[in-house]
Amino acid sequence: MNSAFDQLSIPLRRAITEMGYQKPSPIQTQAIAPILAGRDVMGCAQTGTGKTAAFALPLLHRLEQAHTATLPGRPRVLILAPTRELAAQIGESVRAYSVYQTISSAVIFGGVSLNPQIEALRKGVTVLVATPGRLLDLCTQRVLSLEAVQSVVLDEADRMLDMGFLPDIRKILERLPERRQSLFFSATLSPAVTELAQSFIRTKPVVIRVDPGEPAVERIRQRVYFVDKEKKYSLLKWVLDNPHCFRVIVFPRMKHGADRLCKQLSRDGFPAAALHGDKSQGARLRALEDFRSGKIQVLVATDIAARGIDVDDVTHVVNYDLPDEPETYVHRIGRTARAGAGGEAISLVCAHDRQALREIERFIGRGIPQEQEQPFHSEAARTAMGADAIRPKRSGHNRSGARPSVHRSSTQAASGALYPPRSRGTKPTQTPFYARRKPC
Ligand code: ADP
Ligand code: MG
Repeated sequence: MNSAFDQLSIPLRRAITEMGYQKPSPIQTQAIAPILAGRDVMGCAQTGTGKTAAFALPLLHRLEQAHTATLPGRPRVLILAPTRELAAQIGESVRAYSVYQTISSAVIFGGVSLNPQIEALRKGVTVLVATPGRLLDLCTQRVLSLEAVQSVVLDEADRMLDMGFLPDIRKILERLPERRQSLFFSATLSPAVTELAQSFIRTKPVVIRVDPGEPAVERIRQRVYFVDKEKKYSLLKWVLDNPHCFRVIVFPRMKHGADRLCKQLSRDGFPAAALHGDKSQGARLRALEDFRSGKIQVLVATDIAARGIDVDDVTHVVNYDLPDEPETYVHRIGRTARAGAGGEAISLVCAHDRQALREIERFIGRGIPQEQEQPFHSEAARTAMGADAIRPKRSGHNRSGARPSVHRSSTQAASGALYPPRSRGTKPTQTPFYARRKPC
């Protein structure tokens, strides 16, 4: 009886046991007790460390104990998320955790029709998950009031700032009651994030920093493939041809690049979908669902659209174009090796990428091994990096030739299927799911 989960109600414990949560992650261990006690919490932890359960479980427990009726349009718990996908994911988790409770929840975000959301609010929603813009719209239309909010969660606060949500968050804060529980989560703590935390949190918070041990980048097999620009696409197809690359996220630089690449891939027999901000909400959700279920092999995504997406068993991340910001590289490759699975990150590097590659390597503190034994290798691109740019390290793990290394989920090994269905129960679990993140 010394797990943070033991403090939770029986319905909650039953739900998470059925979901396969055996032990709390570090952030859950540290956050559940203070949140149950009504304290404010400020948590710094990367994505994939189990933050949703860290705040949702104790909040659901408190709601269950309180037995207070929820009035129409007056939620008691408000969870703010930066993107529609993240809001939808949190909503799904909340529904799954509360499956044996009688607590109503709803998710609201922009880009879809208002009416069903208004209808849901009218019926009375206890836990509301929302993106800032749509939340304010509904407040302005007076179908939603934040006056009854007892606990508010700001998830992925740094992303919120990156995405320019600060003015919206300020307006939301004005509508919240002074007396409330405030929970604030961010992967990084820049001065701007800390300032936002100070205006958001009302009382002296419990500060939790999760150091998941070995940084994620140490855990992911990273490779640089040198290639001339005009051969990039052929190299990508060659990479994707490997049957072990069965759930792959490809990052091009631009939205229109994503659409073009997606079309080409589909035409060439690689089931693909694009995920970016110009897609309709329905198309984005469908793309994610098809990717999760294994219906498509490749998700071609832009950085913003991919942030925080929780899809397990992503076997490979391919940087079709290197990102401009080195931090983005870490975010991108962090899409693989989630939830205890292995993963590989491949970067296609051309001669003009010299500076970007240097910055990434400086940021992660080491040279990325080079894979030269591939049919589209460009010696010109490699030498353009200069002798000091990358420590000349050759791929050591890949003994089976030049192909991307093998990452097989046990599901796939058992079934031999090319696109096996996602299975949470059978993934390799040598390392806890949260131990693969980069520390704050
Ligand atoms: P974050 O919000 O920190 O990115 P999530 O809450 O999305 O992380 O959790 C990442 C993944 O880990 C999800 O698939 C979630 O179901 C799973 N997970 C969370 N807590 C546990 C746990 N205690 N045991 C096993 N899996 C967990
Ligand atoms: Mg999260």
